[in-house]
Amino acid sequence: MTRVELITVGDELLSGLVLNSNVARVADALGGIGLGLSVVCDVSDDIPEIVAALRTSCARADVVLCSGGLGPTSDDLTRDALATLAGVEMDRDAGLEEIIRARYAEWNVTVPDLALRQADVPRGAVPVPNSRGSAPGLRLSLGQTTIYALPGVPRELEAMLAEHIVPELAAGLDGPRPVTATVRVALSGESSIATALDAVDLSAVRVAYLALPGDVAVRLTGPAGAVAAAADAVAQRLGAAAYSRDGAGLPAVVHGLLRERKASLAVAESLTGGMVAAALTDPAGASVSFRGGAIVYATEAKAELGVDPELLAERGPVDADVALGMARCVRERLGATHGVATTGVAGPDPVGDYEVGTVFVAVDSAEGSRVIRRSLPPRRELVRTLTVVHALDLLRRHLLGLEPYELTG
Ligand code: ATP
Ligand code: MG
Repeated sequence: MTRVELITVGDELLSGLVLNSNVARVADALGGIGLGLSVVCDVSDDIPEIVAALRTSCARADVVLCSGGLGPTSDDLTRDALATLAGVEMDRDAGLEEIIRARYAEWNVTVPDLALRQADVPRGAVPVPNSRGSAPGLRLSLGQTTIYALPGVPRELEAMLAEHIVPELAAGLDGPRPVTATVRVALSGESSIATALDAVDLSAVRVAYLALPGDVAVRLTGPAGAVAAAADAVAQRLGAAAYSRDGAGLPAVVHGLLRERKASLAVAESLTGGMVAAALTDPAGASVSFRGGAIVYATEAKAELGVDPELLAERGPVDADVALGMARCVRERLGATHGVATTGVAGPDPVGDYEVGTVFVAVDSAEGSRVIRRSLPPRRELVRTLTVVHALDLLRRHLLGLEPYELTG
């Protein structure tokens, strides 16, 4: 088993100024070839600290990735730390110097001396091309360990991982390459999923849970045959709640179903204020099936959309029939085959007789309509986020001819 550790360098990460998102980028790239991170360590812009972290990781790991501190400024110290760790001199690489000079010439700027520091390479290290920036990465073998120094800038890091590091690591792995399948599950808690999966034999794969509000990803890693069998077993055990097996999110899944049916969608949103539309316009190609939406927050705006004013006057804006009316009106107004609507109480205050967290979500189409009422945990952000999931999942189930999600406690 290849042990991989990550060291992220930068005062800004330790001070909380910048969120350490490179951990997720690295983990994601490694996950694609069945590798995982064993340890992640943040260190400050300080040569002795970086050297100590590298030394500790090298004693345990086959591969040590180190991000940040490769640029030209005085706080970029990873290169010097590598030379110190290896006990070698620094050489200026003529080829790299040429590339840096050419880049500056393109910009019509004289090369600052500092920029040329990026052409310095600890003796024995090999530069790794950076297709999105001027600071190259470095590869250095130390004993049994391979160290890769990578840029800190996220888009440069991503490109270097995809273009160089992952292919190199993959080529060095023995035996069949592990694969990953991600089964995604709507509106079931992590622990109830885990309990349900107790009945499934998953001993041949590695299982990881990633929980978002209302949406859990079950990631299965291992040999291809075992992963496929495990994904089948997991999806079957979880039934209709398992909505994708390739990691695709609800918006992408809903778009796929709409496309297959040559159907189109319009949304009318109250408490979600456009979040359903934002989720639906996230996947590329959304325009094939998504027509648009209306944010009808005020009661009068719901009437303006076409909802019966008498109904609104009698029942108020939070109501099952109001939700159905919104879904039907927006669908008709925008000429879509399907309409989805949300209305409810996001909080902090109740509306009429309705407690915070009471929401109605409706779907309307030529084949029929349906509406569900839910009592969500009374926290404003959570109510809004979960309502989006309920709306997308209700639509998915409607398109598949499945019953709406039932609360099981
Ligand atoms: P540069 O050539 O720009 O100096 P570098 O390789 O030296 O790049 P850093 O100086 O460490 O990298 O970081 C550059 C920028 O990248 C930082 O300002 C920070 O915003 C971002 N960054 C660095 N490390 C991380 C990280 N772990 N997670 C997210 N962003 C990061
Ligand atoms: Mg820098």
